[in-house]
Amino acid sequence: MVNSKTKLTGKVIFRGDPGYELARKNWDPHTDRFPKVFVFAQTTQDVSNAIKWARENHVPIRARSGRHALENNLSQVNGGIVVDVSEMKKITLNKKKGTVIVETGNRVGRIARTLAKQGFIAPFGDSPSVGIGGITLGGGIGPLQRTIGLISDNLIELEMVDANGKVIIANKHQNSDLLWASRGGGGGNFGIYTRYKFKVRRSPSTATVYKITWPWNQFEKVLKAWQRWAPSVDTRLGSELNIGPKKGGNVTMEGLFLGSKSEAIRLLKPVTSVGTPTQSIIQSLPYPEVVNFLLVPDPVLTQKFSNQFSSGFGRCPFPDKAIKVMREFLEKAEPNSTAGFFFLNWGGAVSRVLPKATAFYWRKAQYYVEWNSSWIKQSDAAKNIALVRNTRKKLQPYIVGSYINVPDQGIKNSGKVYYGANFPRLRRVKAKYDPKNVFRNPQSIPPARKG
Ligand SMILES: Cc1cc2nc3c(=O)[nH]c(=O)nc-3n(C[C@H](O)[C@H](O)[C@H](O)COP(=O)(O)OP(=O)(O)OC[C@H]3O[C@@H](n4cnc5c(N)ncnc54)[C@H](O)[C@@H]3O)c2cc1C
Repeated sequence: MVNSKTKLTGKVIFRGDPGYELARKNWDPHTDRFPKVFVFAQTTQDVSNAIKWARENHVPIRARSGRHALENNLSQVNGGIVVDVSEMKKITLNKKKGTVIVETGNRVGRIARTLAKQGFIAPFGDSPSVGIGGITLGGGIGPLQRTIGLISDNLIELEMVDANGKVIIANKHQNSDLLWASRGGGGGNFGIYTRYKFKVRRSPSTATVYKITWPWNQFEKVLKAWQRWAPSVDTRLGSELNIGPKKGGNVTMEGLFLGSKSEAIRLLKPVTSVGTPTQSIIQSLPYPEVVNFLLVPDPVLTQKFSNQFSSGFGRCPFPDKAIKVMREFLEKAEPNSTAGFFFLNWGGAVSRVLPKATAFYWRKAQYYVEWNSSWIKQSDAAKNIALVRNTRKKLQPYIVGSYINVPDQGIKNSGKVYYGANFPRLRRVKAKYDPKNVFRNPQSIPPARKG
Protein backbone atom coordinates (compact mmCIF):
# COMPACT_ATOMS: atom_id res chain seq x y z
CA MET A 1 0.00 0.00 0.00
CA VAL A 2 1.52 3.42 0.93
CA ASN A 3 0.22 4.51 -2.40
CA SER A 4 -0.85 8.06 -1.71
CA LYS A 5 -0.04 11.52 -2.96
CA THR A 6 0.71 12.77 0.56
CA LYS A 7 3.94 11.61 2.20
CA LEU A 8 4.30 10.99 5.90
CA THR A 9 6.66 13.46 7.57
CA GLY A 10 8.17 13.71 11.07
CA LYS A 11 9.62 10.63 12.77
CA VAL A 12 7.87 7.69 11.11
CA ILE A 13 8.01 4.15 12.54
CA PHE A 14 6.28 1.31 10.70
CA ARG A 15 5.62 -2.11 12.23
CA GLY A 16 8.91 -4.01 12.02
CA ASP A 17 11.07 -0.86 12.18
CA PRO A 18 13.50 -0.31 15.08
CA GLY A 19 11.70 1.54 17.88
CA TYR A 20 8.29 0.03 17.11
CA GLU A 21 8.05 -2.01 20.34
CA LEU A 22 8.87 1.03 22.48
CA ALA A 23 6.47 3.19 20.50
CA ARG A 24 3.53 0.93 21.25
CA LYS A 25 3.98 0.90 25.05
CA ASN A 26 1.32 2.84 26.91
CA TRP A 27 1.11 3.60 30.66
CA ASP A 28 -1.43 0.79 30.97
CA PRO A 29 -0.17 -2.38 29.22
CA HIS A 30 -3.79 -3.49 28.76
CA THR A 31 -4.21 -0.72 26.15
CA ASP A 32 -1.15 -1.63 24.00
CA ARG A 33 -2.07 -2.54 20.41
CA PHE A 34 -0.33 -3.24 17.07
CA PRO A 35 -0.78 -0.15 14.88
CA LYS A 36 0.47 -0.10 11.30
CA VAL A 37 2.55 3.04 11.83
CA PHE A 38 3.48 5.70 14.39
CA VAL A 39 4.16 9.28 13.36
CA PHE A 40 6.00 11.28 15.99
CA ALA A 41 5.08 14.74 14.74
CA GLN A 42 7.61 17.54 15.07
CA THR A 43 5.36 20.23 13.63
CA THR A 44 1.67 20.92 12.98
CA GLN A 45 2.37 20.23 9.28
CA ASP A 46 3.46 16.67 10.16
CA VAL A 47 0.09 16.16 11.88
CA SER A 48 -1.73 17.50 8.84
CA ASN A 49 0.22 15.23 6.47
CA ALA A 50 -0.47 12.19 8.66
CA ILE A 51 -4.22 12.84 8.63
CA LYS A 52 -4.27 13.31 4.83
CA TRP A 53 -2.16 10.17 4.33
CA ALA A 54 -4.46 8.14 6.60
CA ARG A 55 -7.54 9.22 4.70
CA GLU A 56 -5.98 8.54 1.29
CA ASN A 57 -5.06 5.04 2.53
CA HIS A 58 -8.23 4.34 4.56
CA VAL A 59 -6.29 3.80 7.77
CA PRO A 60 -8.00 4.52 11.12
CA ILE A 61 -6.45 7.43 13.04
CA ARG A 62 -5.61 7.79 16.72
CA ALA A 63 -4.11 10.88 18.39
CA ARG A 64 -1.72 10.38 21.27
CA SER A 65 -0.02 12.74 23.67
CA GLY A 66 0.96 11.34 27.12
CA ARG A 67 0.02 7.63 26.61
CA HIS A 68 -2.19 7.58 29.73
CA ALA A 69 -5.45 6.47 28.10
CA LEU A 70 -7.35 4.26 30.53
CA GLU A 71 -9.43 2.24 28.08
CA ASN A 72 -8.80 0.24 24.91
CA ASN A 73 -8.57 1.53 21.34
CA LEU A 74 -8.36 5.20 22.35
CA SER A 75 -4.78 6.21 21.63
CA GLN A 76 -3.82 3.09 19.63
CA VAL A 77 -5.72 0.73 17.37
CA ASN A 78 -4.62 -2.41 15.52
CA GLY A 79 -3.68 -1.57 11.93
CA GLY A 80 -4.12 2.17 12.48
CA ILE A 81 -1.91 5.23 12.37
CA VAL A 82 -0.97 6.80 15.71
CA VAL A 83 -0.30 10.52 15.40
CA ASP A 84 1.84 11.11 18.47
CA VAL A 85 2.53 14.73 19.41
CA SER A 86 4.81 13.97 22.38
CA GLU A 87 7.91 15.45 20.74
CA MET A 88 6.15 18.83 20.37
CA LYS A 89 6.97 20.30 23.76
CA LYS A 90 7.40 24.08 23.56
CA ILE A 91 6.22 26.11 26.57
CA THR A 92 5.96 29.91 26.24
CA LEU A 93 4.95 31.87 29.33
CA ASN A 94 3.80 35.47 28.95
CA LYS A 95 4.11 36.83 32.48
CA LYS A 96 2.60 40.21 31.61
CA LYS A 97 -0.53 38.79 30.05
CA GLY A 98 -0.77 35.87 32.51
CA THR A 99 -0.95 33.28 29.72
CA VAL A 100 1.04 30.24 28.68
CA ILE A 101 1.11 28.58 25.26
CA VAL A 102 2.03 24.90 25.39
CA GLU A 103 2.43 22.38 22.61
CA THR A 104 0.25 19.37 23.32
CA GLY A 105 3.15 16.92 23.69
CA ASN A 106 3.94 18.28 27.15
CA ARG A 107 3.19 16.32 30.29
CA VAL A 108 1.41 18.11 33.16
CA GLY A 109 4.40 17.73 35.50
CA ARG A 110 6.76 19.49 33.09
CA ILE A 111 4.37 22.43 32.71
CA ALA A 112 3.64 22.68 36.46
CA ARG A 113 7.36 22.64 37.35
CA THR A 114 8.40 25.07 34.61
CA LEU A 115 5.75 27.57 35.67
CA ALA A 116 6.28 27.11 39.43
CA LYS A 117 9.95 28.07 39.01
CA GLN A 118 8.78 31.33 37.44
CA GLY A 119 6.17 32.07 40.13
CA PHE A 120 3.03 30.78 38.35
CA ILE A 121 0.45 28.08 39.03
CA ALA A 122 -0.38 25.49 36.37
CA PRO A 123 -3.04 22.97 37.36
CA PHE A 124 -2.17 19.29 37.68
CA GLY A 125 -3.66 16.02 38.88
CA ASP A 126 -2.07 13.13 40.71
CA SER A 127 0.49 12.01 38.11
CA PRO A 128 3.20 14.17 36.49
CA SER A 129 3.39 12.02 33.36
CA VAL A 130 -0.24 12.49 32.20
CA GLY A 131 -0.26 14.33 28.85
CA ILE A 132 -1.68 17.85 28.66
CA GLY A 133 -3.05 16.77 25.25
CA GLY A 134 -5.57 14.28 26.65
CA ILE A 135 -6.21 15.55 30.18
CA THR A 136 -7.30 19.02 29.01
CA LEU A 137 -9.84 17.78 26.49
CA GLY A 138 -11.64 15.60 29.05
CA GLY A 139 -11.72 18.32 31.75
CA GLY A 140 -8.64 17.91 33.94
CA ILE A 141 -9.26 17.43 37.65
CA GLY A 142 -6.89 17.77 40.60
CA PRO A 143 -6.23 19.26 44.02
CA LEU A 144 -6.04 22.88 42.74
CA GLN A 145 -9.42 22.79 41.03
CA ARG A 146 -11.38 24.33 43.91
CA THR A 147 -9.17 27.44 43.60
CA ILE A 148 -8.53 27.75 39.85
CA GLY A 149 -11.05 25.42 38.23
CA LEU A 150 -10.53 22.45 35.94
CA ILE A 151 -7.52 22.47 33.63
CA SER A 152 -9.95 23.03 30.73
CA ASP A 153 -11.62 25.97 32.50
CA ASN A 154 -8.34 27.80 31.95
CA LEU A 155 -8.09 26.94 28.23
CA ILE A 156 -8.62 30.12 26.18
CA GLU A 157 -7.34 29.20 22.72
CA LEU A 158 -6.37 26.10 20.78
CA GLU A 159 -4.89 24.94 17.51
CA MET A 160 -6.36 21.77 16.00
CA VAL A 161 -5.89 19.94 12.71
CA ASP A 162 -9.22 18.74 11.32
CA ALA A 163 -10.14 15.67 9.28
CA ASN A 164 -9.09 17.41 6.02
CA GLY A 165 -5.69 18.30 7.41
CA LYS A 166 -6.70 21.94 7.80
CA VAL A 167 -5.41 23.95 10.77
CA ILE A 168 -8.16 25.52 12.87
CA ILE A 169 -7.76 28.10 15.63
CA ALA A 170 -10.52 28.35 18.24
CA ASN A 171 -10.96 31.03 20.89
CA LYS A 172 -13.86 33.14 22.10
CA HIS A 173 -13.93 35.14 18.83
CA GLN A 174 -13.59 32.38 16.23
CA ASN A 175 -14.81 28.78 16.30
CA SER A 176 -16.00 29.38 19.86
CA ASP A 177 -18.21 26.27 19.65
CA LEU A 178 -15.07 24.15 19.18
CA LEU A 179 -13.45 25.82 22.20
CA TRP A 180 -16.61 25.06 24.20
CA ALA A 181 -16.54 21.40 23.10
CA SER A 182 -12.82 21.03 23.78
CA ARG A 183 -13.32 22.00 27.41
CA GLY A 184 -14.55 18.58 28.58
CA GLY A 185 -15.75 16.85 25.40
CA GLY A 186 -12.87 14.34 25.54
CA GLY A 187 -9.92 13.47 23.28
CA GLY A 188 -10.12 11.82 19.89
CA ASN A 189 -13.43 13.41 18.82
CA PHE A 190 -12.94 16.51 16.68
CA GLY A 191 -9.39 16.53 15.35
CA ILE A 192 -5.79 16.45 16.53
CA TYR A 193 -4.80 19.30 18.81
CA THR A 194 -1.31 20.75 18.57
CA ARG A 195 -1.34 23.84 20.80
CA TYR A 196 -3.22 25.14 23.84
CA LYS A 197 -3.22 28.60 25.39
CA PHE A 198 -4.13 28.78 29.09
CA LYS A 199 -4.62 31.66 31.46
CA VAL A 200 -2.36 31.31 34.50
CA ARG A 201 -2.14 32.97 37.91
CA ARG A 202 0.71 33.99 40.18
CA SER A 203 1.57 31.33 42.73
CA PRO A 204 1.95 32.06 46.43
CA SER A 205 5.60 31.92 47.55
CA THR A 206 4.75 29.06 49.91
CA ALA A 207 1.84 26.68 50.45
CA THR A 208 1.07 23.72 52.72
CA VAL A 209 1.06 20.08 51.65
CA TYR A 210 -0.16 17.14 53.68
CA LYS A 211 -0.20 13.37 53.60
CA ILE A 212 -1.90 11.32 56.34
CA THR A 213 -1.95 7.51 56.38
CA TRP A 214 -4.21 5.12 58.32
CA PRO A 215 -4.38 1.32 58.50
CA TRP A 216 -6.80 -0.20 55.98
CA ASN A 217 -9.31 -1.39 58.59
CA GLN A 218 -10.07 2.24 59.55
CA PHE A 219 -11.25 3.15 56.05
CA GLU A 220 -14.96 3.34 56.91
CA LYS A 221 -14.61 5.91 59.67
CA VAL A 222 -12.03 7.96 57.76
CA LEU A 223 -14.24 7.99 54.66
CA LYS A 224 -17.32 9.03 56.65
CA ALA A 225 -15.42 11.91 58.26
CA TRP A 226 -13.85 12.91 54.90
CA GLN A 227 -17.24 12.96 53.13
CA ARG A 228 -18.78 15.22 55.78
CA TRP A 229 -15.81 17.57 55.71
CA ALA A 230 -14.10 17.71 52.29
CA PRO A 231 -16.86 19.19 50.09
CA SER A 232 -17.40 22.23 52.32
CA VAL A 233 -13.94 22.92 53.76
CA ASP A 234 -12.15 26.18 52.73
CA THR A 235 -11.91 26.14 48.93
CA ARG A 236 -8.14 26.72 49.03
CA LEU A 237 -7.86 23.14 50.30
CA GLY A 238 -7.78 20.26 47.79
CA SER A 239 -8.06 16.73 49.13
CA GLU A 240 -7.58 13.27 47.59
CA LEU A 241 -8.52 10.16 49.54
CA ASN A 242 -7.06 6.82 48.41
CA ILE A 243 -8.17 3.48 49.80
CA GLY A 244 -6.17 0.44 48.69
CA PRO A 245 -7.07 -3.26 48.59
CA LYS A 246 -7.71 -5.07 51.88
CA LYS A 247 -4.57 -7.15 51.53
CA GLY A 248 -1.54 -4.91 51.40
CA GLY A 249 -3.41 -1.61 51.10
CA ASN A 250 -3.92 1.35 53.42
CA VAL A 251 -5.79 4.67 53.50
CA THR A 252 -4.09 7.92 52.55
CA MET A 253 -5.38 11.45 52.37
CA GLU A 254 -3.18 13.97 50.62
CA GLY A 255 -3.37 17.33 48.99
CA LEU A 256 -2.55 20.96 49.42
CA PHE A 257 -3.75 24.13 51.09
CA LEU A 258 -2.92 27.49 49.57
CA GLY A 259 -2.34 29.04 52.98
CA SER A 260 -0.35 28.65 56.20
CA LYS A 261 0.57 25.46 58.03
CA SER A 262 -1.19 26.50 61.25
CA GLU A 263 -4.44 27.14 59.38
CA ALA A 264 -4.07 23.83 57.50
CA ILE A 265 -3.63 21.93 60.78
CA ARG A 266 -6.82 23.50 62.10
CA LEU A 267 -8.78 22.85 58.87
CA LEU A 268 -7.65 19.21 58.64
CA LYS A 269 -8.59 18.39 62.25
CA PRO A 270 -12.03 16.85 61.57
CA VAL A 271 -10.28 14.07 59.61
CA THR A 272 -6.85 13.87 61.24
CA SER A 273 -8.53 13.37 64.63
CA VAL A 274 -10.23 10.19 63.38
CA GLY A 275 -8.68 6.76 64.06
CA THR A 276 -4.96 6.27 64.61
CA PRO A 277 -2.87 7.60 61.70
CA THR A 278 0.39 5.75 61.18
CA GLN A 279 2.00 8.67 59.36
CA SER A 280 1.20 12.37 59.34
CA ILE A 281 3.03 14.94 57.24
CA ILE A 282 1.83 18.55 57.20
CA GLN A 283 4.48 20.86 55.79
CA SER A 284 4.82 24.39 54.53
CA LEU A 285 7.06 24.48 51.43
CA PRO A 286 8.16 26.95 48.74
CA TYR A 287 5.62 26.59 45.91
CA PRO A 288 7.98 24.75 43.45
CA GLU A 289 8.56 22.12 46.18
CA VAL A 290 4.81 21.81 46.72
CA VAL A 291 4.59 20.69 43.09
CA ASN A 292 7.43 18.18 43.61
CA PHE A 293 5.83 16.80 46.79
CA LEU A 294 2.52 16.09 45.07
CA LEU A 295 3.86 14.97 41.70
CA VAL A 296 6.03 11.99 42.54
CA PRO A 297 7.63 10.32 39.49
CA ASP A 298 5.25 8.02 37.57
CA PRO A 299 7.21 6.59 34.62
CA VAL A 300 5.15 5.59 31.60
CA LEU A 301 7.00 2.56 30.32
CA THR A 302 7.57 0.56 33.50
CA GLN A 303 4.02 0.25 34.86
CA LYS A 304 3.48 -3.48 35.30
CA PHE A 305 -0.20 -3.48 36.33
CA SER A 306 -3.05 -3.48 33.85
CA ASN A 307 -6.21 -1.78 35.07
CA GLN A 308 -9.94 -1.44 34.66
CA PHE A 309 -11.34 1.84 35.95
CA SER A 310 -14.82 3.25 36.39
CA SER A 311 -15.82 6.69 37.69
CA GLY A 312 -18.70 8.89 38.81
CA PHE A 313 -19.72 11.87 40.92
CA GLY A 314 -21.35 11.85 44.36
CA ARG A 315 -24.07 14.34 45.19
CA CYS A 316 -24.32 13.22 48.83
CA PRO A 317 -22.16 11.15 51.16
CA PHE A 318 -22.03 7.40 50.47
CA PRO A 319 -24.52 5.75 52.87
CA ASP A 320 -23.61 2.54 54.74
CA LYS A 321 -24.99 0.39 51.90
CA ALA A 322 -22.57 1.97 49.40
CA ILE A 323 -19.66 1.66 51.82
CA LYS A 324 -20.50 -2.05 52.13
CA VAL A 325 -20.21 -2.36 48.34
CA MET A 326 -16.81 -0.69 48.56
CA ARG A 327 -15.69 -3.12 51.26
CA GLU A 328 -16.72 -6.13 49.14
CA PHE A 329 -14.76 -4.69 46.20
CA LEU A 330 -11.64 -4.00 48.25
CA GLU A 331 -11.76 -7.49 49.77
CA LYS A 332 -11.86 -9.08 46.31
CA ALA A 333 -9.29 -6.83 44.61
CA GLU A 334 -5.82 -8.29 43.91
CA PRO A 335 -3.64 -8.17 47.05
CA ASN A 336 -0.70 -5.73 47.02
CA SER A 337 -1.84 -4.18 43.77
CA THR A 338 -2.67 -0.63 42.64
CA ALA A 339 -6.41 -1.39 42.91
CA GLY A 340 -8.61 0.81 45.08
CA PHE A 341 -11.01 3.70 45.51
CA PHE A 342 -10.08 7.34 44.96
CA PHE A 343 -12.09 10.40 46.04
CA LEU A 344 -11.45 14.09 45.23
CA ASN A 345 -13.38 16.97 46.78
CA TRP A 346 -15.56 19.13 44.55
CA GLY A 347 -16.92 22.66 45.08
CA GLY A 348 -15.29 26.08 44.83
CA ALA A 349 -14.23 27.22 41.36
CA VAL A 350 -15.36 23.96 39.67
CA SER A 351 -18.92 24.33 40.89
CA ARG A 352 -19.19 28.06 40.21
CA VAL A 353 -19.11 27.41 36.45
CA LEU A 354 -22.54 26.54 35.05
CA PRO A 355 -22.90 22.95 33.74
CA LYS A 356 -23.64 24.18 30.21
CA ALA A 357 -20.94 26.87 30.11
CA THR A 358 -18.37 24.31 28.93
CA ALA A 359 -18.70 20.70 27.73
CA PHE A 360 -17.78 19.46 31.23
CA TYR A 361 -21.24 18.93 32.72
CA TRP A 362 -20.83 17.40 36.22
CA ARG A 363 -20.31 20.60 38.20
CA LYS A 364 -22.90 20.15 40.92
CA ALA A 365 -21.41 17.35 42.99
CA GLN A 366 -19.76 16.99 46.38
CA TYR A 367 -16.96 14.75 45.24
CA TYR A 368 -15.53 12.74 42.37
CA VAL A 369 -15.04 9.00 42.85
CA GLU A 370 -13.21 6.35 40.82
CA TRP A 371 -12.29 2.75 41.50
CA ASN A 372 -10.02 0.35 39.70
CA SER A 373 -8.95 -3.24 39.82
CA SER A 374 -5.52 -4.26 38.59
CA TRP A 375 -3.74 -7.40 37.49
CA ILE A 376 -0.51 -8.61 35.95
CA LYS A 377 -1.39 -11.95 34.34
CA GLN A 378 -3.60 -11.72 31.26
CA SER A 379 -5.60 -14.70 32.59
CA ASP A 380 -6.74 -12.50 35.53
CA ALA A 381 -8.10 -9.76 33.26
CA ALA A 382 -11.70 -10.92 32.78
CA LYS A 383 -12.53 -11.42 36.45
CA ASN A 384 -11.06 -8.03 37.38
CA ILE A 385 -12.90 -6.20 34.62
CA ALA A 386 -16.13 -7.88 35.76
CA LEU A 387 -15.44 -6.90 39.38
CA VAL A 388 -15.22 -3.19 38.46
CA ARG A 389 -18.30 -3.28 36.25
CA ASN A 390 -20.43 -5.18 38.77
CA THR A 391 -19.40 -2.71 41.42
CA ARG A 392 -20.58 0.10 39.14
CA LYS A 393 -24.02 -1.52 38.95
CA LYS A 394 -24.19 -1.76 42.74
CA LEU A 395 -23.01 1.83 43.26
CA GLN A 396 -25.27 3.27 40.55
CA PRO A 397 -27.98 4.46 43.02
CA TYR A 398 -25.38 6.63 44.79
CA ILE A 399 -23.53 8.27 41.87
CA VAL A 400 -24.29 10.34 38.78
CA GLY A 401 -22.43 10.53 35.47
CA SER A 402 -18.90 9.44 34.73
CA TYR A 403 -15.64 11.21 33.85
CA ILE A 404 -14.68 10.85 30.17
CA ASN A 405 -10.97 10.84 31.09
CA VAL A 406 -11.56 7.81 33.31
CA PRO A 407 -13.85 5.91 30.97
CA ASP A 408 -15.42 2.49 31.25
CA GLN A 409 -16.44 0.83 28.00
CA GLY A 410 -18.91 -1.28 29.95
CA ILE A 411 -21.17 1.79 30.16
CA LYS A 412 -23.99 1.55 27.61
CA ASN A 413 -25.41 4.68 25.91
CA SER A 414 -22.44 6.46 27.35
CA GLY A 415 -22.99 9.92 25.79
CA LYS A 416 -25.45 11.10 28.44
CA VAL A 417 -23.45 9.47 31.20
CA TYR A 418 -20.25 11.35 30.29
CA TYR A 419 -21.81 14.60 29.12
CA GLY A 420 -25.27 14.90 30.71
CA ALA A 421 -27.41 17.55 29.02
CA ASN A 422 -24.41 18.73 26.96
CA PHE A 423 -24.45 15.62 24.75
CA PRO A 424 -26.83 16.98 22.03
CA ARG A 425 -24.75 20.15 21.60
CA LEU A 426 -21.54 18.10 21.45
CA ARG A 427 -23.08 16.05 18.64
CA ARG A 428 -23.85 19.25 16.71
CA VAL A 429 -20.28 20.52 17.14
CA LYS A 430 -19.04 17.11 15.98
CA ALA A 431 -21.25 17.33 12.86
CA LYS A 432 -19.74 20.73 12.06
CA TYR A 433 -16.05 19.87 12.52
CA ASP A 434 -15.96 16.14 11.68
CA PRO A 435 -19.17 15.35 9.76
CA LYS A 436 -17.75 12.11 8.30
CA ASN A 437 -16.84 10.82 11.76
CA VAL A 438 -13.19 10.32 10.80
CA PHE A 439 -12.10 10.66 14.44
CA ARG A 440 -13.90 7.88 16.22
CA ASN A 441 -13.30 5.35 18.96
CA PRO A 442 -15.54 2.96 20.93
CA GLN A 443 -17.29 5.72 22.93
CA SER A 444 -16.66 8.81 20.79
CA ILE A 445 -19.33 11.43 20.06
CA PRO A 446 -21.41 10.57 16.98
CA PRO A 447 -22.22 13.50 14.63
CA ALA A 448 -25.76 14.88 14.95
CA ARG A 449 -28.00 13.86 12.06
CA LYS A 450 -28.92 16.56 9.55
CA GLY A 451 -32.29 18.30 9.78
C1 LIG B 1 -1.63 7.40 36.33
C2 LIG B 1 -2.76 8.25 35.86
C3 LIG B 1 -3.14 9.33 36.63
C4 LIG B 1 -4.19 10.14 36.20
N1 LIG B 1 -4.52 11.22 36.98
C5 LIG B 1 -5.45 12.08 36.55
C6 LIG B 1 -5.78 13.25 37.29
O1 LIG B 1 -5.23 13.47 38.37
N2 LIG B 1 -6.69 14.11 36.79
C7 LIG B 1 -7.32 13.87 35.60
O2 LIG B 1 -8.12 14.69 35.20
N3 LIG B 1 -7.06 12.76 34.88
C8 LIG B 1 -6.15 11.87 35.33
N4 LIG B 1 -5.89 10.74 34.60
C9 LIG B 1 -6.67 10.45 33.40
C10 LIG B 1 -6.12 11.22 32.21
O3 LIG B 1 -6.60 12.53 32.22
C11 LIG B 1 -6.57 10.56 30.89
O4 LIG B 1 -6.10 9.25 30.85
C12 LIG B 1 -6.10 11.36 29.68
O5 LIG B 1 -6.88 11.04 28.57
C13 LIG B 1 -4.65 11.08 29.39
O6 LIG B 1 -4.18 11.91 28.40
P1 LIG B 1 -2.80 11.53 27.66
O7 LIG B 1 -2.53 12.57 26.68
O8 LIG B 1 -1.75 11.22 28.69
O9 LIG B 1 -3.16 10.11 27.05
P2 LIG B 1 -3.20 9.51 25.55
O10 LIG B 1 -3.23 8.03 25.76
O11 LIG B 1 -2.11 10.05 24.73
O12 LIG B 1 -4.59 10.02 25.03
C14 LIG B 1 -5.78 9.81 25.74
C15 LIG B 1 -6.99 10.19 24.87
O13 LIG B 1 -6.89 11.56 24.46
C16 LIG B 1 -6.74 11.63 23.04
N5 LIG B 1 -5.70 12.61 22.74
C17 LIG B 1 -4.45 12.67 23.26
N6 LIG B 1 -3.77 13.68 22.71
C18 LIG B 1 -4.60 14.25 21.81
C19 LIG B 1 -4.46 15.34 20.90
N7 LIG B 1 -3.32 16.01 20.81
N8 LIG B 1 -5.51 15.64 20.10
C20 LIG B 1 -6.68 14.95 20.17
N9 LIG B 1 -6.87 13.92 21.00
C21 LIG B 1 -5.84 13.59 21.82
C22 LIG B 1 -6.36 10.24 22.59
O14 LIG B 1 -6.74 9.99 21.25
C23 LIG B 1 -7.09 9.39 23.59
O15 LIG B 1 -8.45 9.27 23.23
C24 LIG B 1 -4.86 9.88 35.00
C25 LIG B 1 -4.48 8.77 34.22
C26 LIG B 1 -3.45 7.97 34.65
C27 LIG B 1 -3.06 6.78 33.84
